[in-house]
Amino acid sequence: MLGQMMNLPLMISSLIQHADSFHGDAEIVSRLPEGGTHRYTYKDAHRRSRQLANALLALDVKQGERVGTLAWNTHRHLEIYYGVSGMGAVCHTINPRLFPEQIAYIVNHADDSYIFFDITFAALVEGLAPHCPRVKGWVALCGHAHLPTSGKIPNLMAYDDLVNSHSDDYQWPQFDENTASSLCYTSGTTGNPKGVLFSHRSTVLHAYASALPDALKLSARDSVLPAVPMFHVNAWGLPYSVAMTGAKFVLPGAQLDGASLFELLEAEKVTISAGVPTIWLSLLQHLQSNKLKLSTVKTLVIGGSAAPPAMIRTFDECYGITVNHAWGMTELSPLGTANTFKLKHLALPAAEKDKIRMKQGRPLYGVQMKIVDGQGKTLPNDGKAFGDLLVRGPWALSSYYKGEGGNPLIDGWFPTGDVATLDPDGYMQITDRSKDVIKSGGEWISSIDIENLAVAHPAVMEAAVIGVAHPKWDERPLLLIIKKPGMDVTREEMLEFMSEKIAKWWLPDDVVFVDSLPHTATGKLLKTRLREDFRGYKLPTA
Ligand code: AMP
Repeated sequence: MLGQMMNLPLMISSLIQHADSFHGDAEIVSRLPEGGTHRYTYKDAHRRSRQLANALLALDVKQGERVGTLAWNTHRHLEIYYGVSGMGAVCHTINPRLFPEQIAYIVNHADDSYIFFDITFAALVEGLAPHCPRVKGWVALCGHAHLPTSGKIPNLMAYDDLVNSHSDDYQWPQFDENTASSLCYTSGTTGNPKGVLFSHRSTVLHAYASALPDALKLSARDSVLPAVPMFHVNAWGLPYSVAMTGAKFVLPGAQLDGASLFELLEAEKVTISAGVPTIWLSLLQHLQSNKLKLSTVKTLVIGGSAAPPAMIRTFDECYGITVNHAWGMTELSPLGTANTFKLKHLALPAAEKDKIRMKQGRPLYGVQMKIVDGQGKTLPNDGKAFGDLLVRGPWALSSYYKGEGGNPLIDGWFPTGDVATLDPDGYMQITDRSKDVIKSGGEWISSIDIENLAVAHPAVMEAAVIGVAHPKWDERPLLLIIKKPGMDVTREEMLEFMSEKIAKWWLPDDVVFVDSLPHTATGKLLKTRLREDFRGYKLPTA
């Protein structure tokens, strides 16, 4: 017997419609790449999204067609999220930090028909256009006055002119909720990037779960600033979850340095912000060197790479800000876990609480997780055994766009490529990427644990640990360090500092001080490059 409830499809357009109807005057504030600040409301954003949908129809964009963006977090990008997906086309967010050859590959692989770009990327687009012959038109995200004038971009249009010349008389179509809505390519440290194709259903369900109090904790009383770019897994779904909850939305444009973020967080009374650890590192430095406090921020969601424990502690103890450590990946829309305490943890001593909040957190409802050994046998959730982390759920990938790479699933589970522990309370802790784990004498050493320990030293700005070949042990850890400006520490002091805190055999065999460390286009340490750079490195104990 079937239930007798309405079977309304979960549509992305319903989110902006809801925000317009019930939070119509809530503000959306943007720092514009062409300069200045733009303010309007959900009602305005909904109207302009409908105008854009009409403009796309006039450009003959069909349902299912891919429309690309190379854009920062602004109100215009938000309108594209809703206008493109809402009318049934696929919003393809492209990471402008990738190499131009990778971007051209992605545009051609996705078969994007139009590309909407911020004028800060005009030079990039000039170089791209000749390599993307199937793109029918390039739309600059600006008004006529700021259009690039080089003449090197074919079929160039100004976004504001395009939108303004169309009516807002548009009814969002209703269709199968499993229809593709947006596309995001993984950054791909090896091989070509692969496309992850989200659906209306997966996006709306992810928004529901991610807005919950133990996840992003969003409400109509919040002012939310996504410091994570909208080209990085849909800014962790925030453009959707803020509309669902009616929160004020503050979009930082291209300026993500510590000083600009501080200024915007204060000016717009931001209560919740989210981003990768490097963003918060530069904000912390700005706060510390200028002796500043944040007066309204209550929660920072930190994820994308392991949030260093020292950073979590400093935000809490010196600034009264709760850090919510979260884990996810493009293939998981992206949120998989978030870290908050349970009731029984509240009375624990500080040191015990510390151990819990360093973990990546508990699965959001909907996400299932297990860890397995090399033979695929499920390992116990005892917080000690670590193995390959597998996930499944309604917002997890089932196959890559165009079937690239074949069937990625193992018995219906997606292998994340992460190595993790799961404890009896459901907290997951990443110990490594499976390809970064250091295999020493048949045992595994967690590079993340050692990095976390190294950055707790006051003179260390950033640390990376890689495995280097060793004649006896197979691999041994090598620690690479960037020192904080004006601070000093020696190799011996560093090893001494760490020696009391980890098992002796986990202690790095050497420490190398470097000026910079390579990162991927999404801000993660590029360990493949480091391993190449240090291949054949002679360890002192080898
Ligand atoms: P991406 O698909 O580019 O978002 O990358 C996903 C990968 O980032 C995950 O598989 C993890 O290896 C890493 N990652 C994301 N969040 C965290 C976190 N909180 N701690 C450690 N690693 C993380």
